[in-house]
This record gives sequence, C-alpha cells and structure tokens, in this order.
Amino acid sequence: MPEYPDLNLYIGGAWRKTGQSLPVINPATEDVIGEVPVARRQDLDDALEAAERGFRIWRATSPRVRAEVILRAAALMRERADEIAHSITLEHGKPLPQARMEVIRGCEFFEWDAGEAQRLYGRVVPSAPGIRYLVIQQPVGTVAAFSPWNFPMSQPARKIAGALAAGCSIIIKAAEETPAGALHIAKAFHDAGLPAGVLNLVFGVPAEISTYLIPQDQVRLVAFTGSTAVGIHLTEMAARTMTPVLMELGGHAPVIVCDDVDAQAAGLMSAARKARNAGQVCTSPTRFFVDQKIFAPYAAAFAERAAAVNIGNGMTPGIEMGPVANHRRIEAIDALVEDARAKGAKVLTGGARPNGPGYFYPVTVLAEVPDDARVMREEPFGPLAVINPTASLDEAIACANALPFGLAGYAFTHDAATADRLMNEIEVGNFSINTLEASVAEVPFGGVKASGQGREGGMEGMQHYLEVKTVSHRMELEHEPTVSGAKA
Ligand code: NAD
Repeated sequence: MPEYPDLNLYIGGAWRKTGQSLPVINPATEDVIGEVPVARRQDLDDALEAAERGFRIWRATSPRVRAEVILRAAALMRERADEIAHSITLEHGKPLPQARMEVIRGCEFFEWDAGEAQRLYGRVVPSAPGIRYLVIQQPVGTVAAFSPWNFPMSQPARKIAGALAAGCSIIIKAAEETPAGALHIAKAFHDAGLPAGVLNLVFGVPAEISTYLIPQDQVRLVAFTGSTAVGIHLTEMAARTMTPVLMELGGHAPVIVCDDVDAQAAGLMSAARKARNAGQVCTSPTRFFVDQKIFAPYAAAFAERAAAVNIGNGMTPGIEMGPVANHRRIEAIDALVEDARAKGAKVLTGGARPNGPGYFYPVTVLAEVPDDARVMREEPFGPLAVINPTASLDEAIACANALPFGLAGYAFTHDAATADRLMNEIEVGNFSINTLEASVAEVPFGGVKASGQGREGGMEGMQHYLEVKTVSHRMELEHEPTVSGAKA
C-alpha cells in the first residue's frame, strides 16, 4: 500500500517546508494523515519571482516542446495512477475506483491541452499591397490559480494544463484539506523536466494568499474554482488592477424529467449520479422537476436506489459513496434538510446523520419541497436531492431558470422538439440530454449568470490564458504627408 506523501510547497523547482503547518484529516476516520506547510510572505515573494523567471523560459519554448513535456508528465501520472488515487481517497474520502477515474480524467485534461498547445493559430487579415495585418496569440503571463478540495487532482489539473499549454507560468494554491492531488501533479512535472519556476505550488491561509498575490504586477490572470461568494470577492479584487479572471463557481443543477421516458430507469440513474463524489460536484444534479404523470414511479425508483447506496470508507472494496470531505458539509446539509422538513417537505430516504467517527451522511431525497425552503435556492454541495412534480413543460422551465445559478442543467426526453426547446431555453453553460455527464476534456465547461465567467477545456478553454496582439507591418517606411500635402 503506498504511503500518504510528505507534503511540501514547490517553488522555483524545489520542495520546501516553512516551519508552520496545518493538519490534513482523513474524513472517513478523522485521523490526521499529514501536515501541509503554510506559505509565508517570503515564500509567496519567491514564488512570484520564480514564476517570472519561469515565464520568460516557457514562453520562448516551442509549442511542440511544451506539448512533449506536458505529455511526459501525463504519462507519469498514468503510471502512478494507483498511488495518486490512494492519496486522494485518504484525504478526500471518495471510493478508490472513483479516485482512480479522477486521476485518468486529470490526465485527459493534460493530454487534450497538450494538443491545443500546438493549435494556437493566429490570422493574416487581407490588406492593401505593401502592408500586412497579423493577429497573433501570446501567453498572458503568470497565472494565480486557486483550486478546491472536491477533486484534489483533476481540479488543479485543469488550470495547470491550460496555463502550461498556452506558455504561461502558474502559481497554484491548491486546497489545504486535500493537498496530495496537486502535489502528485507537481512531482510528475518535476520528473518530466519542466523548467524551474513554470509551475509553483503553494498552500496556506486562502484569503491571505489571494489578497497578497492578486494585486501583484506579475499576475496577469486569476483562475478560481469554488463558491460564488468567494469568486465575487476575488473578481472585485482583480478588477482593481484590471486583471482578467476565469471563474468556475457554484451551481444548483436542475433536471427536467419528461413523461415520455422510462420513469424507473431515469430514477435509478439519477440516484446513482447524485451519490457520485458524495454530491460534492458543482454540476451535481439537485433539483429534479418531474412531469406529474410519472412522478410517483420516478420518485419511488430514485428513493429505492438512493437507500441502497453502499456507504463507507472509500478504501473498502464495494463502497459506492464515501464520507463528505469535511465537517462543514455535514452541518450545511443537515441544516438544509431540517429547514425543508420543518416547511413541509417529505423525506423519502436519508435525512439523519449516523453516529461514529467519519463525516458520513446518507443520500437524502426530499420530495414536494416548498419554494420557500432554503434548499430550493442554496446549493447543498452534498448527497441531497429534491424531487418536485410539475404540471407542464413551461412550469418546469420556469423552475429550472428561477435561480441566479447557471452551471449545468439536464433533461430526460426522447422528443426532439422538447429537447430542442429545452436546449435553447435552459439558462446554463452545460446542458445534457438523457445523460447526467456534464464535462469532458474535449468540450468547453463553465457557467453563466452567478456560476462564473469563462470556460475551461475544449478549444475555448485556452483563450483565457492567451491575449491577442494585432501587428501592422508595412514593407517600406511610411512617409508622412507634409503640411502642403507634398511628400517629404
Ligand atoms: P468556501 O467558499 O470557504 O471555499 C471554497 C474554496 O475556495 C476552498 O477551496 C477554499 O480554500 C477557497 N477559498 C475560500 N476563501 C478564499 C479566499 N479568500 N481566497 C482564495 N481562495 C479561497 O467553502 P467550502 O466550505 O470550502 O466549500 C463549500 C462551497 O464551496 C460549496 O457550497 C460550493 O458552492 C463551493 N465549491 C464549489 C466547487 C466547484 O467545483 N465549483 C468546489 C468546491 C467548493
């Protein structure tokens, strides 16, 4: 069995401790499994200086060589997938096979972006004889990135992949609660020969690090994944220096279930998806609006499958859902359930936290939840689903669009006209029909409204890490007309 890794900062191509640390807790056992160093001001200054040096080297490295280094690192991560997955399960709690899938997904982000590194085309714009207009794309510079704890490896992977493929350097503050995923990425790049300073990894007090890094001259892009409240705060900070942002924020994904689908199959599939990552996914399906004609069989199948989810320590074979990642989630979910129950919601299954060590919470299904219940507006970010009947497609669309969030949305239908209408009218960045999959490497991912700005992945994901420069090139010196109009 691999060990949980020794945790360090990675600055200027070297590993370091800082004399101060925070404990890392296994959420299945509540045991301390590691100590993550806390960056001091000097460490951040060193990271900024290293990133500046790294940027000068990396921007001058050919796209082909950049791609080769990224692919070499991804190959190492694939070789080490079992070891990385083991670390993720220990620090995050998700079942080992899901942790392994996350590692492979993270590798796919690197592999896709390595390809994109070689396709960062510009344009030659038709122009008059004697002059050429070129539109070229250049890396923005040093990126300050902040990744969350729900996917310890694939979340940092997205940001590091985009930055490195575009020719940027990056300082990433990964999540202190789940630091090993990002640490394994840094190790792979170190071993793959990435020049020192191109990738820098820090941990510490999140607000202190973002407040210090974001206003610095060297920082040319702020990339964040996390809650809408923190995203808005960081965006305001970045606006003071006109620094652009890439924000992947919260969601509260609606699912519209039409009466032309197999209610039981859709219910089973929905419950299984809700359990994925213990519901701690920004695209997790949460508000299910079900045509009243199939509401009863759909809700019954959903609740039955949810109750059958095998919950336990993610290291144990056969476990389908681990604990939630920290104590804050348990309290937040419990409060939402109690509030909905008090307002008249029916609890179809779950709704009670078990005793004993570990941050476990069962998949909980609420039905016929009134609009004034908090869970109808607040993202649960845990294994909690709401199922409400709807009388018409108009009503379902209105319910789906009622919140300020707009990350992912889903529908079950085989009717082409209904699918077309929903595709046009649901206000989200990612809409999926007859699947609860929302994001793969080759397509862009991101939100509208309060769910964020910008896209990661696909061709579009690279744009934030690039800036456009227009070059006007005259073949001869241009003579300015004199006052009299004669050529000088
Ligand atoms: P939180 O808002 O305190 O933190 C969310 C993330 O942002 C964490 O990784 C944290 O380290 C970071 N963060 C917080 N304050 C920061 C600051 N001032 N500067 C830089 N980074 C900062 O909440 P939490 O309890 O950790 O997570 C719960 C909420 O976060 C959920 O309700 C969910 O909306 C959101 N979240 C979203 C995603 C996502 O994928 N979009 C992932 C994780 C958490």
